[in-house]
Amino acid sequence: MNPSVFSRPVWRRPNRASVAAVELERNEEADLVVIGGGFQGLSTALHAARKGLSVRVIEAGRIGEGASGLNGGQVIPGLKYDPEWLLRHFGDERGERLAAFSEKTADAVFDLIEAEGLDVEHCRNGWIQAAHTETALAAAAERNRQWKTRGADATLLNDAEISFMTGARGYLGGWLDRRAGVINPLAFVLELARLAGEAGVRIAEGERATGLRQESGRWHVETAGGGVVRAKTVVIATNAYSDALVPGLARSLVPLNSFQIATAPLPILQQDLILSHGQAVSDSRRILVYYRKSPDGRLVLGGRGRMATPRHAEDWAHLEHALLRLFPALTGIDIEHRWFGRVAMTADHLPHIHEPQKGLLMAAGCQGRGVGLMTALGKRFADYIESGDPLTLPFPISPIRPIPLHALRQVGVAAMITWYRMLDGLER
Ligand SMILES: Cc1cc2nc3c(=O)[nH]c(=O)nc-3n(C[C@H](O)[C@H](O)[C@H](O)COP(=O)(O)OP(=O)(O)OC[C@H]3O[C@@H](n4cnc5c(N)ncnc54)[C@H](O)[C@@H]3O)c2cc1C
Repeated sequence: MNPSVFSRPVWRRPNRASVAAVELERNEEADLVVIGGGFQGLSTALHAARKGLSVRVIEAGRIGEGASGLNGGQVIPGLKYDPEWLLRHFGDERGERLAAFSEKTADAVFDLIEAEGLDVEHCRNGWIQAAHTETALAAAAERNRQWKTRGADATLLNDAEISFMTGARGYLGGWLDRRAGVINPLAFVLELARLAGEAGVRIAEGERATGLRQESGRWHVETAGGGVVRAKTVVIATNAYSDALVPGLARSLVPLNSFQIATAPLPILQQDLILSHGQAVSDSRRILVYYRKSPDGRLVLGGRGRMATPRHAEDWAHLEHALLRLFPALTGIDIEHRWFGRVAMTADHLPHIHEPQKGLLMAAGCQGRGVGLMTALGKRFADYIESGDPLTLPFPISPIRPIPLHALRQVGVAAMITWYRMLDGLER
């Protein structure tokens, strides 16, 4: 089977015309070059251009072909860690700033969509973290306590409530975070590109940045097509798709494949029974699955997939099994879309910001939460580029730390996924 049939996400493109790409010339000058045209790169570019900077974006593929156009569109505030952990780990002042940033990351997305009238389907009715064990339920209660203390609009769900809201089988309860919601991610990244273009950002597609050097205080970014752009500042927004451009960056990340499936539009009865109020769900399994409905009424479900490039529909079979375990009434429904993309994990499960040399800035490692996080971070990057004040950044700037024995680590992750999947199976 042709692998390209597996690269088509379920998301529709916006009705408005996309940004017109501006071809790279052989020699260009800009205040800022952004490498990578996903949420991180485009949000940085948009906010920097609105501050008056001349901005050039260089994207190796087409806008939307990276994780930003392929993801599940769940817009979830917060990080893997809850506020009290952040305060303990980063200290009161930095921890508090980080908690305050992380609780607003979903706002960054929904506020932009509303304020700019973007052609992006969205629904802000919350995200459910669904618990299938007593341990997970206790963790949900603790998470609820910590966020409620900070005034978050969130609540615990018992088994009857979660069953009613999701229509899924097998949960003991869960946590509903009403700050969260869902969007059409492909439409959002394309609309972000259009907005950036309107703000004066020049976006080149199909141009891979291959070289980076500093000369007389300016960065020179070279591309495979022979172009050179000189700028005071460069933002590397390549995240899970990072290559050898910045020494050590790719090896500081564990890229994982995240797979997704979308059913045919659900029958009317199932539309009313499954996620009838449009919430997004992630479950509490070690190898979690996450799901939501698409704007056209399909169930879209995702989870980890094999590390090698998938080639056959069977490579998504584990997701189809998960779908039927949760929703047996969907037995026999067609799976009309299968696709995958790359997410970046870090060893400490936190996003990292690096500036290995002055004017060379980057962030990576969203642990699958990059929709809100990277959109919000782009604005902070623009603030930092303008002010030079590291306190505008939510995370401390850290050195790039390649993971020792990186290649082996990836094999280890694959083995760990198999092991965790087995443990999850035993807890069913
Ligand atoms: C299947 C899937 C489901 C997900 N679901 C969710 C979800 O529901 N909620 C959530 O919050 N997050 C989710 N994520 C994670 C989220 O999509 C990412 O964290 C986010 O999109 C990262 O944005 P980014 O701009 O940093 O990177 P990307 O969108 O990946 O953009 C990086 C870009 O850099 C380009 N690039 C790389 N190297 C070069 C180079 N040398 N020169 C030029 N360009 C280059 C790539 O082509 C790519 O377009 C999911 C991810 C996947 C893959």
